Amino acid sequence: MNAGKVHLVGAGPGDPELLTLKAVRVLGQADVVLVDDLVSDAVLAHVRPGARIVHVGKRGGCKSTPQEFIERLMIAEARQGHAVVRLKGGDPFVFGRGGEECEALHAGGIEHEVVNGITAGIAAPAAAGIPLTHRAFCRGAIFVTGHERAGAPADWEALARTGLPLVIYMGIATCAEIQRALVAGGLAGSTPAAVISNATRPDQRTLATRLDRLADDLAASGLGSPAILVIGEVARLARPELSQDVQQRLHG
Ligand code: SAH
Repeated sequence: MNAGKVHLVGAGPGDPELLTLKAVRVLGQADVVLVDDLVSDAVLAHVRPGARIVHVGKRGGCKSTPQEFIERLMIAEARQGHAVVRLKGGDPFVFGRGGEECEALHAGGIEHEVVNGITAGIAAPAAAGIPLTHRAFCRGAIFVTGHERAGAPADWEALARTGLPLVIYMGIATCAEIQRALVAGGLAGSTPAAVISNATRPDQRTLATRLDRLADDLAASGLGSPAILVIGEVARLARPELSQDVQQRLHG
């Protein structure tokens, strides 16, 4: 039997209208779809009736399905001749371990292809009204994770010195340390900061504040994961009222 192909598909930030046409097509052709946590249910509407949907994320009931298990499952399904979609939030290659999954598929001799999605670090600022690289403010932007990984902490002082806006994924839990390190690195306490949670989803919320009040205001706001932090002058353009617009559009 010929082995099936695996598509690593980006599901985008949440709004199903932000899916690519290619994502919609391969979802509609899949026999089995392995789904991460941050994928919204509305995206799964494009899976054809009769296809199997397996939730492999932490909140999917499996309590943090080990990465190795996911990789073995993808390979086993493909070897049975199934068309497999590995559906991941945002873009599969941005902080999503998509690279590791491709290595495993390559090692297993399984044909695979990546279908880009809109990553949260691009979608969230836009949904909050922040034109990330507005040329009046900056010449680029930095995408960085706030998640502490043993042995590889970000050099926040060095990042502060670039003067570029920081777009921080997974930064809610370590927000106070990030704030401290950026100020220690010379970033002014008055630097605008925005937090956008559940970007492009019906429950999108935006906090607009400044660096020296970030952790306190975030705690008071009740905003939680998933969220993107944008720290830099361009965050001055955040429009928290847009979150309300999203709510009305999706519900109304
Ligand atoms: N591959 C994903 C990122 C996975 S890491 C992508 O490209 O978007 C998970 C982090 O992404 C979350 O902790 C959060 O920082 C961010 N994130 C994902 N979806 C989000 C959303 N709808 N709104 C805000 N942040 C989001």
